[in-house]
Amino acid sequence: MFSTLKSLDNKKLAKYAVSFTGNPDFQEDVLDWVLDGNSDLYKEVIATPGGTGAVGMSIENCLEAGQTLIIPEIAWGSYSLMAQMHNLKTKSYSLFEGDHFNLDSLKATCKAVMEEQDRLVLIINDPCQNPTGYSMTRKEWEDVIEFLNECSKTHSVVLINDIAYIDFAYEGAKAKEYFRCFDKISDDVAVIVAFSISKSLTSYGLRCGAAILMAKTQEGVDELKVVFEKTARATWSNVNNGAMETFSTIMRTKKDEYLAEKQKYVDLLKARSDLFVKQAEEAGLVHYPYKEGFFVTLAMDNDKCDRLHAALMENQIYTVKVNKGIRIAVCSMPLHVIDGLAARIKAVEDQLD
Ligand code: PLP
Repeated sequence: MFSTLKSLDNKKLAKYAVSFTGNPDFQEDVLDWVLDGNSDLYKEVIATPGGTGAVGMSIENCLEAGQTLIIPEIAWGSYSLMAQMHNLKTKSYSLFEGDHFNLDSLKATCKAVMEEQDRLVLIINDPCQNPTGYSMTRKEWEDVIEFLNECSKTHSVVLINDIAYIDFAYEGAKAKEYFRCFDKISDDVAVIVAFSISKSLTSYGLRCGAAILMAKTQEGVDELKVVFEKTARATWSNVNNGAMETFSTIMRTKKDEYLAEKQKYVDLLKARSDLFVKQAEEAGLVHYPYKEGFFVTLAMDNDKCDRLHAALMENQIYTVKVNKGIRIAVCSMPLHVIDGLAARIKAVEDQLD
């Protein structure tokens, strides 16, 4: 991947992108790679600086100041920061009911927000949710789409599906089949898929990603595209040409090599998460339902979270506090460090008064 970047012609690295919405090759390659043929909707791609750019511009463009964005209760912290920056409020849905997605909470949250405003904009970070590592089932996605179609009878609806970690899903291409559920959206629902090459090419520093705008009609997609293009122009102008060229070169000429390299890291991640989850269960350490992805999150209230986080640091165990939990980055620890970690955390937990 980095050898591809370094082998690019200087002219390509120096150049502006072809358009404020990105290079045509990049747009085509993003659609092919991300959706993998699993969509019959109308679509447009806006190149963005990372998934951050895609999520941020969606939030900015789809709500008016003072309105409410719906986010998961346990989530990537930037969602609420982005909402604040655009003078938006947030309301969160609880993520889990037992070991599965809490559809009832999502519905109740949407209904409450719909009583106060003319539109519904919600974020679902799936698959490989940050920070829990949950991935929704096909049935859970179908139920969400059916509900959003109901909502669209009275409100316009925008679903932002943040797929930042999708390329680390353990099922590979199969993990993209749920996009088929989006084919069933009604005319008044739009889906924006936020893609990040930070994760897919393990290249956070390149700052490249895309917002894939999807709707049932070309007009629906065009309406969004016009606004997104202006936002891009006014906010970051255009996206790093070398990053887009790297992605396209890999997709067009080195895909097999890329897939093999990626699989190596997916297998490594799986070995690490399998070991941690197995030992967490043996140790009696409670975590949110984990299926795949970079992080496992221990479940607890915020008071315990503060105390355990501090106690862990005293024992040289460095974690991240999230709402109602402590995030363990299984992605960043070698197996020998993970081995025994759950028991060490449990021992510290047992010492708390
Ligand atoms: N979404 C989630 C859930 C993330 O965790 C991140 C990065 O950590 C992003 C989106 C965006 O990342 P980037 O802007 O580097 O593509």
